[in-house]
Amino acid sequence: MPMAEAMESCDVLIVGGGPAGSTCAWKLRRHGLDVLVLDSMTFPRDKVCAGWITPSVLDTLQIECADYAAGRVLQPITGFSTGVIDGAEVETRYRNDVSYGIRRYEFDHYLLQRSGARLRLGEPLRSLERSNGGWIANGTIRTSLLVGAGGHSCPVARFLGAQLGAQQSLVVAQEAEFPLDAAQAKACRVLPHTPELFFCQDLKGYGWCFRKGDYLNIGLGRNENHHLSEHLAAFCDFLKRRGKFPADIPNEFRGHAYLLQGHSARKPTDNGVLLIGDAAGLAYPQSGEGIRPAVESALLAAETIIEAEGDYRQAQLAPYPQRLQGRFGTAQSADASLFPQQLQRFIGGKLLSNAWFTRHVVLDRWFLHAQQHPLRIY
Ligand SMILES: Cc1cc2nc3c(=O)[nH]c(=O)nc-3n(C[C@H](O)[C@H](O)[C@H](O)COP(=O)(O)OP(=O)(O)OC[C@H]3O[C@@H](n4cnc5c(N)ncnc54)[C@H](O)[C@@H]3O)c2cc1C
Repeated sequence: MPMAEAMESCDVLIVGGGPAGSTCAWKLRRHGLDVLVLDSMTFPRDKVCAGWITPSVLDTLQIECADYAAGRVLQPITGFSTGVIDGAEVETRYRNDVSYGIRRYEFDHYLLQRSGARLRLGEPLRSLERSNGGWIANGTIRTSLLVGAGGHSCPVARFLGAQLGAQQSLVVAQEAEFPLDAAQAKACRVLPHTPELFFCQDLKGYGWCFRKGDYLNIGLGRNENHHLSEHLAAFCDFLKRRGKFPADIPNEFRGHAYLLQGHSARKPTDNGVLLIGDAAGLAYPQSGEGIRPAVESALLAAETIIEAEGDYRQAQLAPYPQRLQGRFGTAQSADASLFPQQLQRFIGGKLLSNAWFTRHVVLDRWFLHAQQHPLRIY
């Protein structure tokens, strides 16, 4: 007869070990909670992402650049080359580092190791049942509180009723990241400290070409789900025509979809459960940046969990959605578009060739969120 598997217990079970899950685990462990992180993948693992973060993310996570950079890619960014595909390019320079390029393969592994949580990796969430005011996951894990951090397709979000593909404001994106050999590195005209961003002519998305250390990351994201591959192919042709990168780069693009802030119908809490990061649909609407909202929502959730002192009924978790709203605004104040609709209609791509508008609106406001101070919760 097969032996029954032993039951493992924890205070908090976090499903998903990406930036949201590992940040929540890190904060809860520092407050003495017993945390288990379950992830279907073993780490280090790849994640479809450009790997661009602002200094605010490192500040919030209390990561020293020099410590992180030892043996890992941390590419400082001091400028951008931007424009519309096939249009003029605008170069914007900054005096200091305004962003960094990381590799998710390294970054997510670093955060998960640092969290201090117990890990069950290579094991997907297969089953979930409520039991005695708490939960039993996979028939073998007993927990009082569940945190859904499994990204856009998070099984916890689906358990709470999320329907994949039901929303209009999905971002769909494809990217490829690969090492450059010496000849390719020499032929590549994209400067490591100056990523290139080019908007689609209909302004429904943008492509990027981003060099970090010895790696090149190319991709394109759009806020509508039609003909993504054609848009990506047109973008790559444009980059080749401009001689941005060598012709022999691998054509191995991988795709992913996720939700924008303010346009997710997902409920972030229920009795004994919270959703964080992409599971809650929190990526910034104009840029599609999701790591910062993932990290910040994780800390806001952790703060709520700590204050609840073991009583995880929905009413005790109510401060979490309020904190999300305080930080990110209401659904009405967020714009579903990568580029606001009014702008699309009235002025098209003209403003994107204007140096002032590019610096102060597109980059500082939409991409760097320079107006929003780093979240500091210790
Ligand atoms: C092409 C592309 C480019 C992007 N570029 C950027 C960028 O440059 N900067 C930026 O800030 N954001 C970017 N984003 C968005 C960013 O990748 C996400 O917002 C971010 O990863 C969200 O973090 P998360 O922890 O919520 O989810 P994820 O990073 O998706 O982590 C979820 C984890 O859950 C695990 N999981 C999933 N299902 C299960 C299951 N059933 N059981 C157990 N575990 C499970 C997964 O293995 C994964 O490890 C990009 C997205 C795309 C698609």
